[in-house]
Amino acid sequence: MRIPVIAGNWKMHKTISESLDYLEAFRTVGEKNGVETVLCGPFLTLPALVEGTENSSIGIGAQNMHWEEQGAFTGEVSPSMLRDLGVPYVIVGHSERRTLFGETDESVRNKVRAALAHDLVPILCVGETIEEREDGRTQEIVRKQTVEAVQELSSKEMARVIVAYEPVWAIGTGRSATAEDAQDVVAFIRRILADQFDQQVANQVRILYGGSVKPANIDELLQMDDIDGALVGGASLDPESFGQLVDAA
Ligand code: 13P
Repeated sequence: MRIPVIAGNWKMHKTISESLDYLEAFRTVGEKNGVETVLCGPFLTLPALVEGTENSSIGIGAQNMHWEEQGAFTGEVSPSMLRDLGVPYVIVGHSERRTLFGETDESVRNKVRAALAHDLVPILCVGETIEEREDGRTQEIVRKQTVEAVQELSSKEMARVIVAYEPVWAIGTGRSATAEDAQDVVAFIRRILADQFDQQVANQVRILYGGSVKPANIDELLQMDDIDGALVGGASLDPESFGQLVDAA
């Protein structure tokens, strides 16, 4: 049995005080047993979010990190800094980081390994662009991004990773993949993991769908056999709608 995960990615939204207001509203609607609920805020909000969720089932995540322990990396945050803060999750390889900030498969691999080495749960994002989908290259791209990110992990490490399939064309566009299309790719990712590791590991890994997830489409996505939850951008910014997504899981 895989425990469902509903993770919010606030991206570059919310100040510290807005985060605290959000938590106050969310804690009354957003706590649900049996669902792993994660909020990934901007770095500056993380101390307040960790403190504000201390006695709750809500987990806090960062949206990125560097893989090195420390050093001359101006503007970066290390895995041990997140760990020290009590942050248990980190999003790695989001398409916005890949396309806008030059993140490569190699840096994504380094980050996944560093996260696991520091006992952080990486939420590894993979997904194709619209051009790649129209060229029939979805599987090729998703395979490459997945394999490159996880190839050096042990089975035990892999079982702790959360994978998020986020087709780039569905992010922030209001145009979600159909539940069937999302299921096809998510099942494909599970087959890749079975090839790279074994079927037991493939069955254990939680694989989420992300891209215009909202209360109106969450039910059909979660009904799919291989989809274990959602990584949510826009709809996670409002505590009511994020609460509805958690409730649906
Ligand atoms: P939207 O839910 O706004 O499409 O964003 C998805 C996403 O990028 C989550 O990481």
